[in-house]
Amino acid sequence: MDSRTPDRADSRAHPLSGLERAALDHIPAMVGYWDRHLRNRLANAAYTDWFGLGPEQLQGIHLSDLLGEEPYAQTLPSVRAVLAGKPQLFRRTMTNAGGETREFQVSYVPDGSAARVPGFFVLVTDITRRALAERRERESADRYRALARSVPGVFVLLFDADLRYIIAEGQELATFGHRQVELEGRTIHEALDPGLAEELEPRYRAALGGHERTWKRTIGHRTFTLTAAPVRSGDAITAGIVVAVDVTDRLQREQTWAALHDIATAVARSAAPADIAERVASVLQDLFLVDVAAVVRFSGTGTAEIVAMAPALPGALSRLQTFGPADMSAAGQVALTGKPALVNYAPSGGLASEQLLAVGFHAGAAAPIRVHGELWGAISLASTSAAGVTPAMLERLAEFAELVEIAIGNSEAWSTLELQASTDGLTGLPNRRAFEERLASETARAAAVGGALSAVVLDIDHFKRVNDGFGHPVGDTVLVEVAARLKRVAREGEMMARLGGEEFVWLLPGTTGGHALQAAERARAAVATAAFGDVGWLTVSAGVCELGDSGNDGLVACADEALYAAKRTGRNRSQRYGASAG
Ligand code: GH3
Ligand code: MG
Ligand code: MG
Repeated sequence: MDSRTPDRADSRAHPLSGLERAALDHIPAMVGYWDRHLRNRLANAAYTDWFGLGPEQLQGIHLSDLLGEEPYAQTLPSVRAVLAGKPQLFRRTMTNAGGETREFQVSYVPDGSAARVPGFFVLVTDITRRALAERRERESADRYRALARSVPGVFVLLFDADLRYIIAEGQELATFGHRQVELEGRTIHEALDPGLAEELEPRYRAALGGHERTWKRTIGHRTFTLTAAPVRSGDAITAGIVVAVDVTDRLQREQTWAALHDIATAVARSAAPADIAERVASVLQDLFLVDVAAVVRFSGTGTAEIVAMAPALPGALSRLQTFGPADMSAAGQVALTGKPALVNYAPSGGLASEQLLAVGFHAGAAAPIRVHGELWGAISLASTSAAGVTPAMLERLAEFAELVEIAIGNSEAWSTLELQASTDGLTGLPNRRAFEERLASETARAAAVGGALSAVVLDIDHFKRVNDGFGHPVGDTVLVEVAARLKRVAREGEMMARLGGEEFVWLLPGTTGGHALQAAERARAAVATAAFGDVGWLTVSAGVCELGDSGNDGLVACADEALYAAKRTGRNRSQRYGASAG
């Protein structure tokens, strides 16, 4: 059949009327007829246009001469098949003499169905545009697929206007019990449970109508957000997309931050550390949905105190826990190793473990809390079920502990600060701030119940000489010793404070001015009766005032005035306000 005998003589052109010819020439596709010797018997204008050959050149040309060797070799199997009576439909990319490359759909139709087919009709349609569009679609689909596959915690569904899945891709498909092959090519009604399909249909239709719909699904411990949205191509909505995203971590993070905010607020409101621990315990229980959560403080070796527990400590569990090196309680493990621990309680697990088992707990987890780098204690969870505490929970607990220790650490730092703020750093006596607070409350109380209130201001005589003669550090030592002697003289319920410099103030609730003067004398004696080492003997002067004496100037101002009088009249003496210097 492919014998190329150049016998143009017996080749007959396909007989066509002028009208038929004109109609063929207007078809935007190549229409031709080839005989079984593969010689052309009919070629319309589209042939002429593409191959750049005139009608008389095409007439009788052999297929191999028209196509060229390689395309001809590719086409041969289809030619053989059509001559055997089988219609052919295939795609072919062709480049013409002008270097133009286009994509064609080629159709071979056998001429009759006789055993010996005399020839075949050819219809070649230019599908370059369609092929491009298809390719673009395929590429974008490939991109969807690649994206959906590569993002963890996600799956993507693409569906058409018939609610038929075009693409179902992503690591989380399996989590939802779906398989790509069971979804793609099927409508939601074919692929899904009737109930689910019914639930989803309005959302899918909304997406195809240009609206977005979002819903949540919880599967096991994980929460997903699903969004159905339109896919647009130009102005038209061509498909819908569903994206499912695992938001478990995000939700947990949000919950964690809310919980920390709660704790931080308690700290900011300067709640006591114990209150903060209570807060932490209840937040932990809420966050981890366990039977019990606790804050444990390690005290010394082998003991721990349950500072807070949510819900409240059961009666059978002692607040103080003792554990040895073999103890298998979660908190005990943290105390020993300084690392987070997950434990299943067993009767052989040691004392604390035994106790926990006895009150019904079978599993526990604990994570260390460090304050200023030291192992402060632990936060711990316990469950009545052996599988109630998981490694994932432990990991989260450890992260949470790191955040909580900031809060607990701050609360301790805060109370230290509080202490510093009311104590004089050199002598350890209450400072002026603490004194003024106490003075205000005692003044208010005296006013309310009508009791007496007196103050004594004491000032070291010629203290400058100590500094000048022995240096400032020795002066400091003297101040500390004077403070100690004065403090010993003060009684329960009174306050001896350092007012500043080498000046002290003594608040005596329930004491009249007369008795306060006697007290001042005792203080003066306490300083004067013993030498201060190399510095030698020192004295103080004192001014005394009772609340009623002072008028509007205040108790301290009035005692100060009395002190001034004592200094003026020779030092080493006590002077009551308003009394004549004796
Ligand atoms: P007098 O009260 O008897 O009139 O004489 P004085 O020498 O004590 O006089 P004044 O009260 O004016 O001097 C107090 C001195 O105490 C001056 C200051 O340098 C010293 N001083 C104040 N605070 C401290 C301190 O914390 N450490 C030491 N070493 N000296 C202090
Ligand atoms: Mg002085
Ligand atoms: Mg002074």
